[in-house]
Amino acid sequence: MKKLFALLIAALLWATLPAQVYASDKDVLTASIEEYYKSLPQAKRDYKIRPRPILIQGAMNIETDALVRSLKKPVVYRYDNYLFIAGTYRNYPIVISRTEQGLANAAASTILAIEKFNPIAVINQGTAGGSDPAVHVGDIVIGAKSIPSSAIYTQQSPAGAGVDYTAQEMRGVFAYDRVDETFKRRGEFYADKTLLELAKRVAADSTHEFTSVTGTIASADWWMSWVDYVNFLRERYGITASEMETVAVAQICHNVNIPFIGIRVISDNDINDEDYRFDISDRSQKFAMLLAERYILDVLRK
Ligand code: SAH
Repeated sequence: MKKLFALLIAALLWATLPAQVYASDKDVLTASIEEYYKSLPQAKRDYKIRPRPILIQGAMNIETDALVRSLKKPVVYRYDNYLFIAGTYRNYPIVISRTEQGLANAAASTILAIEKFNPIAVINQGTAGGSDPAVHVGDIVIGAKSIPSSAIYTQQSPAGAGVDYTAQEMRGVFAYDRVDETFKRRGEFYADKTLLELAKRVAADSTHEFTSVTGTIASADWWMSWVDYVNFLRERYGITASEMETVAVAQICHNVNIPFIGIRVISDNDINDEDYRFDISDRSQKFAMLLAERYILDVLRK
């Protein structure tokens, strides 16, 4: 009987082993972050804290973890399966939001955050692919501008003629126009001037040793590895980095008139054969927190 029991345990261990062996470092890390969030106090009622918090977003656990760990008194809020963690930094309220990947998730979680937390400013940060040979894994891109890189008109071409990807024009997405009081096409969104200036100051502060560039972030629901196409996008639209969220958040913040900036760390760059490094995501989180700190000290407490 004992022998049978031991055999059963061994079989069970063996059956669960492959998952442990094959799980990537990233999966293990992501799971442990998830456990950490579950261990925090969970909110029982809606957020009521004043003054208006700064909202800092990241798409994935590896892009929110360091931010959450730097908060004092973190409390977890869940709305429609999106995760938000509210706390304070430098005695000022901050909400960290895990948007999930992609444009629709980024937009949805931003509107939810606006309704539930009433943020005074929004910083979207995370990883991005380099779209310029001049940027390398680990570099920070300060998004002075963002564009919806898949919102294009394509020139008609008949069946069998193949595709000339350069036969395209920016179509833009529909964003609220305050003058005409209606939604109109818009092909680019600009960072809030104050947040942009402060981000440049964070970058220039030599104590932090960031390598950074101010540029344009392109967002679309794709992982674009066609180097020719990336080069074309850079030449046509002047893009520096590509990812999947920034422009959606920029669009929503533009629509509701909330100061916004996107900050990205380059995690991969196919142009330079630089492979994806998920562990680099700490850098954009650190940069975003320093930016939030500057905003608190130089703008909100002035
Ligand atoms: N699914 C991959 C990693 C996600 S990459 C994995 O599990 O290993 C997609 C996320 O990283 C998106 O949120 C996007 O904003 C960002 N990203 C980083 N580099 C990117 C690139 N080259 N193209 C598109 N998105 C990129």
